[in-house]
Amino acid sequence: MMSAISRTDDEPHEASEIIPNVYQLTIRSTNVVLIVDEELTLIDTGLQGSSAGIVDFIRQLGRSPEEISLIVLTHNHVDHVGGLAELKHSTPARTTIHANDIGERGNRPAARAEDIDIRLEGGEVLKPMGGLRVIHTPGHTPGSICLFSPRTRLLIAGDAARNGRKALHLPARMAGSDMRQAAESIEKMAELDFSILCLGHGLPLTEDVQVKMQGLIERIKD
Ligand SMILES: [Zn+2]
Ligand SMILES: [Zn+2]
Repeated sequence: MMSAISRTDDEPHEASEIIPNVYQLTIRSTNVVLIVDEELTLIDTGLQGSSAGIVDFIRQLGRSPEEISLIVLTHNHVDHVGGLAELKHSTPARTTIHANDIGERGNRPAARAEDIDIRLEGGEVLKPMGGLRVIHTPGHTPGSICLFSPRTRLLIAGDAARNGRKALHLPARMAGSDMRQAAESIEKMAELDFSILCLGHGLPLTEDVQVKMQGLIERIKD
């Protein structure tokens, strides 16, 4: 179910509860994911200017931005990290990103080393959702990561894949992208047992997700 939940700039923000206590919020065409446990976890921060919409949404849930303990950045592109500086004023959250994306200059301005508290390598298990696995899926950027919740079979993939109208696609090629690595990362993702896929842009995929992943792999091999 999608519903317009607030208007703090020209566009309504779309929010959907993907699974209980996990929300996808779309602000200016970029998604952020909010995980509501005892503490709050935010995956990505949107473009610069997105923090007001994120904070509004958290307040509508009856929670406070001060309860965000962790901000995980899927990769260092401005549409995913642009809201970080603003959010840091209203939350005590620690911020984490893959080490390979720190200082990545492909798409400025983006997160800098001094913005990051924890450098990821891939393979970590983060506290939210009873264990959220960090999967290193380079290609779109050298430090792109996916977050996998085995308990709920949810995969949060940032821009490691792209959601088309009918099919999944390789990620967008940007400055610094390595499309061979991106294809290998798609194969790595396909080995995970997920049934819901959240991407950095577009609606969450909840149907035929594995079929769509296999379709993409077959097209990559052709
Ligand atoms: Zn990106
Ligand atoms: Zn993006």
